[in-house]
Amino acid sequence: MTRQCLKPGDIEPTGISNWSEDGSASILAAMMDRSDHLHPAAARSVGGRLSAAGARACAAALDILFPPACVGCRRTVDGQSGLCGSCWRGMRFIERPFCERLGTPFAQDLGAGLQSPEALARPPVYGRARAVVRFEDGPARKLMHGLKYGDRLDLARPLGAWMARAGLELLADADLIVPVPLHRARLWKRQFNQAAALAREVSRASGIAWDPMPLLRVKATASQVGMSRAQRIENVQGAFTVDPALKGSVAARRIVLVDDVLTTGSTLNAASRALLRAGAANVDVLVFARVVTES
Ligand SMILES: [Zn+2]
Repeated sequence: MTRQCLKPGDIEPTGISNWSEDGSASILAAMMDRSDHLHPAAARSVGGRLSAAGARACAAALDILFPPACVGCRRTVDGQSGLCGSCWRGMRFIERPFCERLGTPFAQDLGAGLQSPEALARPPVYGRARAVVRFEDGPARKLMHGLKYGDRLDLARPLGAWMARAGLELLADADLIVPVPLHRARLWKRQFNQAAALAREVSRASGIAWDPMPLLRVKATASQVGMSRAQRIENVQGAFTVDPALKGSVAARRIVLVDDVLTTGSTLNAASRALLRAGAANVDVLVFARVVTES
């Protein structure tokens, strides 16, 4: 299929690993940029470089072969939109007014810079948290489940781009993005870390460097589903540390810590504490979805 797009002289043999090194347009890049609606098999089938015009022609041809699909429900959508109208309406995006510290929405706008009673009563270890959407209902839970368990790695790019927008203020003050790591045993079982996939895309969208190496999960924590706040805090106690050999990469850095979902914040607090102990200048938190407890 993709071979039809290639002309002699358009392409030179190259491995996928170095496809973007010289900055030339790449059919793979064109496809990856459109990974919100591309059949994954198509993206895997090519690794050659093309002229920019060739890449555009291929992208147009791919639209016909693989029409853009909603990232939520896979229904065909028009144009570049990531979500169909129905999924879009179902997303409960978090917008101002919200608590400056926790990023939780306020029912009324009481003025800029306010913190919620929750933030004042239980200040988090991290500085500020921002999320794209509420987790409780709508397509957000389905999207997260698809990324985490459903082999929907294609979701990482559009979700990461949304996160970069929601975290604009945090990223403006940051010089490093760090994903919340999985324990080695879980990574082995699941094969990839959804937080790292999102962190890479937030980095791509924002231009801020990311580094999955320094922060380690040294304790294989139990699943936190159904645990109380106190149980969660206990569960993640001492779960994270910074690799002593890599302390230099977080020391004095302003870090945005990335995860998929924020529930009570106990995991993100524990990970933030490890980064701050290793000398990070400050830690903010950026997630795709968060649970919002109505008070
Ligand atoms: Zn949809």
